[in-house]
Amino acid sequence: METMNPCLTCGACCAFFRASFYWAETTAGSSNGVPEHLTEKINDFRVQMKGTRGEKPWCIALTGEIGRNVQCSIYEQRASVCRDFPPSLLDGVVNERCDKARQAHGLKPVTPNDWGLEDFPKAA
Ligand code: SF4
Ligand code: SF4
Repeated sequence: METMNPCLTCGACCAFFRASFYWAETTAGSSNGVPEHLTEKINDFRVQMKGTRGEKPWCIALTGEIGRNVQCSIYEQRASVCRDFPPSLLDGVVNERCDKARQAHGLKPVTPNDWGLEDFPKAA
């Protein structure tokens, strides 16, 4: 079976959690940072991706259709909070927050099959 990545056909976490991070991760503090105009200030220290707060979050950088085909339009510049969020079963470890976001969008928890595996990988 070929290796797959469940995130490419999901996107649920980008339309469920607030994506907040230290302001200096934006282009205001780092030349290759998150485009500042896609963020909004929370306080003197933190900003959030526009669209990720409120009753129906949807990050301004998320394109596509959740559960089918999605992209992060600033993938190479995304914040640490996005880079550090592991899809469930990455390295065999369940991420309940990932599965919770998926559930909120009517998707089932990630299975080994979503990674192109026949069985649960061994945790590292
Ligand atoms: S909810 Fe999980 S599987 Fe879906 S995009 Fe986020 S990390 Fe990937
Ligand atoms: S910046 Fe990209 S990875 Fe982060 S929440 Fe938005 S769409 Fe998702």
